[in-house]
Amino acid sequence: MKKICMVGTGYVGLVSGACMADFGHEVWCVDIIEDRIAGLGRGEIPFYEPGLDTLVKKNHAANRLHFTTSLAEGMEQADVVFIAVQTPMSATGEADLTYVMQVGEQVGTLLTGYKVVVTKSTVPVGTARRLAAVIKNALPEPVDFDMASNPEFLREGSSIEDFMRPDRVVIGTESQRAADIMSRIYRPLYLLDTPIVHCDIETAELIKYASNSFLAVKISFINELATLAEQVGADIAVIAKAMGLDKRIGPKFLHAGLGFGGSCLPKDTNAIVHIGQSQDVPMRIVTAAIDVNAELPHRAFAKAQQLVPDLAGKTVALLGVAFKPNTDDIRSAASIPLTRALLAAGARINAYDPVAMPNFREVFADLNYCDSTFEAVTGADLCILVTEWNEFRQLDFEQLAKVMRERAFLDCRNVYNHKHVAGYGFRYACFGRPDSARPRGEGQ
Ligand code: NAD
Repeated sequence: MKKICMVGTGYVGLVSGACMADFGHEVWCVDIIEDRIAGLGRGEIPFYEPGLDTLVKKNHAANRLHFTTSLAEGMEQADVVFIAVQTPMSATGEADLTYVMQVGEQVGTLLTGYKVVVTKSTVPVGTARRLAAVIKNALPEPVDFDMASNPEFLREGSSIEDFMRPDRVVIGTESQRAADIMSRIYRPLYLLDTPIVHCDIETAELIKYASNSFLAVKISFINELATLAEQVGADIAVIAKAMGLDKRIGPKFLHAGLGFGGSCLPKDTNAIVHIGQSQDVPMRIVTAAIDVNAELPHRAFAKAQQLVPDLAGKTVALLGVAFKPNTDDIRSAASIPLTRALLAAGARINAYDPVAMPNFREVFADLNYCDSTFEAVTGADLCILVTEWNEFRQLDFEQLAKVMRERAFLDCRNVYNHKHVAGYGFRYACFGRPDSARPRGEGQ
């Protein structure tokens, strides 16, 4: 059993901390947001993540999971300090390391004996070395410590399963002592035969960006191909299926639609482009993936205009605003530029999302927020499926046809079959499938 200090109780810090406590370690989770820490002590989870409340409550009750705003308290007995604070995209596209470096400085002032300091946040290559220098500078007196890089690959919405049964764990270290301590933390996963990649720190740092960029490239590839499929009358869903059956390609991340969003892929693709620039190695493929992705909300808007040529004064029902299902995260969600374009065209918006509306309200205070799909579509001239939550996968088109003012449906996630929806008298558009570029007239 190890004693762990987890700095940051966001998606990554809280999930990692709770899962490590569930492995049997004693974990102190530290955050500077007092309300968040007080709420966590009462079992209140600050964001939506399936299963996390149960895991937190269970381990808190077992006295393995503690919450504090005091880094000193969190570090006091810890063998390992994980830094899991945010690394947002700066205005120029690079990773903003302010929060990470602040934690490094505080860790330095509090370090009194050997510990491993681990970056779990996604950070550019070289950050651990810079952080080590910051910590050394802040030490009141010389103390031995090691750095490590342990990037996190969990996905919001399935983060507990991702943490508990990962495809792999990456551990970058510079000493055997640190490698041994890190191995002990992940021992329960060794027992499950999880592949553990031990490497140097720079390699670990770059693995995270390489993985996320590759996923982004895969998504943008299928989306660009969807545009071509539309032009030539081919069906991207069938193309993706056939491609995915090739084991060298695999079926995941091949769904054409609104592209990638959230707190990771947009930020990490931009960051690797900057890392490349700083080393005179232009990341041309990733740059193209970013460009293709940025066009998608505008393509969706163009399709909305094809379905309803004059959107001024029309009511548009948005089904889903989260960047993907099972999360309340709207960071870099395609719903944001799409909503801006619809509002600029004079549309009124009825928005409904099972969990993400409070976050969306902080960006768009004045939309008509609804409590159900039914309320959102009632009186609407166009319905846009933006996020493929399960509850939007089985819409009752007979009811929609009755309560909508006009029958127009834009399926940004290619959930439905054109013939099925058109069968209820809807004009229908989607991405990269037959009729997706040429929505039919009503009743056809
Ligand atoms: P987040 O914004 O949800 O949470 C960060 C937390 O750190 C906040 O609660 C904040 O108050 C806290 N914090 C900031 N400064 C602090 C300080 N000095 N002391 C204590 N706490 C402090 O961020 P996140 O989504 O959990 O992401 C964290 C890192 O993990 C990022 O680098 C991100 O790229 C990476 N990552 C995120 C995901 C994901 O799905 N969200 C997945 C893999 C990796």
